[in-house]
Amino acid sequence: MEELNFDVVVVGGGPAGSSAARIAAENECTVALVEKEKEIAETVRTSGVTWISDIKKFKIPEDCYNSIKRFSFCSPKNSVTISDNVAKAAVLDVRKTYRFLANRAQSSGAKIFTSTNVSEVLKNSDGKCVGVIAKSIDKHIQFNAKVIIDASGFASVVAKELGHVEQWKKFGVGAEFEVKTEELEQDNWWLMVGQEYSPAGYAWIFPTSKNTARVGVGIGKPDSEVDPTIRLNELIDKKIGPIKDLGKIEKIEFHYGLIPNEGLSRKTVYDNLILVGDSAGQANPLVLEGIRYAIRFGEVAGKVAASAIKNEDTSERSLIPYEKEWRKAIESKINSAIKVQNRWVGLTDEEWDKELDIINELTADEFLDFIRADFGVSKMVKLATHHPKMIVRQLFNMVKGT
Ligand SMILES: Cc1cc2nc3c(=O)[nH]c(=O)nc-3n(C[C@H](O)[C@H](O)[C@H](O)COP(=O)(O)OP(=O)(O)OC[C@H]3O[C@@H](n4cnc5c(N)ncnc54)[C@H](O)[C@@H]3O)c2cc1C
Repeated sequence: MEELNFDVVVVGGGPAGSSAARIAAENECTVALVEKEKEIAETVRTSGVTWISDIKKFKIPEDCYNSIKRFSFCSPKNSVTISDNVAKAAVLDVRKTYRFLANRAQSSGAKIFTSTNVSEVLKNSDGKCVGVIAKSIDKHIQFNAKVIIDASGFASVVAKELGHVEQWKKFGVGAEFEVKTEELEQDNWWLMVGQEYSPAGYAWIFPTSKNTARVGVGIGKPDSEVDPTIRLNELIDKKIGPIKDLGKIEKIEFHYGLIPNEGLSRKTVYDNLILVGDSAGQANPLVLEGIRYAIRFGEVAGKVAASAIKNEDTSERSLIPYEKEWRKAIESKINSAIKVQNRWVGLTDEEWDKELDIINELTADEFLDFIRADFGVSKMVKLATHHPKMIVRQLFNMVKGT
């Protein structure tokens, strides 16, 4: 077995892992980024919706996304479109973006190991993790590390192997086709709600270019037993709702993935170990969107790991600033979003028709804050007390928890 020594070993070459690896490398650590697939983003498991303000903060190039400025919702008997003057949302070219993030980590000095599947965690005599063992194409590699960053997504391979966490019990399952369409409004996305689309979740059309889009179905488990792949094929075959307006559809690629939906239930630092991204459950529960958090908190994980290594103390106590920083940034927003999610999961088709009337009363900015779970306290109080429409005030009173 080959044995390699690094300051930081990052398990998983998704957005969280690449960002953590880059920042740790920029802060003078030797870094291995270990990815089990043949290439970064070989398999796409996400729809790639995110926000242009975040894209700009992360310096992701403009040719990595398609801009969205109209947000359409449909329920069985209602439909609304909220239009913005400038595009604030985007659908990423997932492969291009994830490879851009990994290349940037590499340029900063991180060493990328693809086709390298982490299967075991090395522990010292105190039971603390000190490395991982991975199987690459023709050999086993032992990676010794001062800090391990578990960025392996839903699987959380390192934390699970150490017995710190169990398999997520509440999660979303999504199935999606990237399709070529005959007709498409390139700057308009569709979210489709109600029993026919998804009994616990939603269906979507996310345009990726002038004639390509991702059409998908997400289902909450264990709330519903419906298989999202079967439901997606039914929706496409029967051309339900706005899918019929796409005209002739040619399926190009199938995507399938799982995303945790248990709020921020996990502890994310242990001696020599940090959990980040989906492994830490860092997703906006309203629409189960986690890419921007994965990148942002990947950066925080890389920074805190590097600082702990510099101070020669990689104990849990020394890594705690990571957990404090991300919780301060999103915990109260996520908790508010869970309230909306709980409300949405229980809605009947008729109630969804009415919910869309409420959404229709929001301005584009209010809608975006809402869907992004950007529930700042002062914004929420303003909406709950001063919004001209009573139904909107009631909605935000519910989010506030009164
Ligand atoms: C169907 C679906 C649609 C989604 N849509 C959106 C959306 O529109 N917008 C949004 O922001 N979020 C969306 N998400 C969520 C988003 O994809 C995740 O929050 C995000 O990918 C988390 O990034 P990550 O780096 O933590 O994990 P991942 O992107 O899952 O990356 C983990 C990486 O670890 C690797 N890995 C796993 N096990 C091992 C191992 N044993 N050894 C080595 N490598 C390993 C994997 O191959 C993978 O590359 C969606 C999720 C799903 C399932």
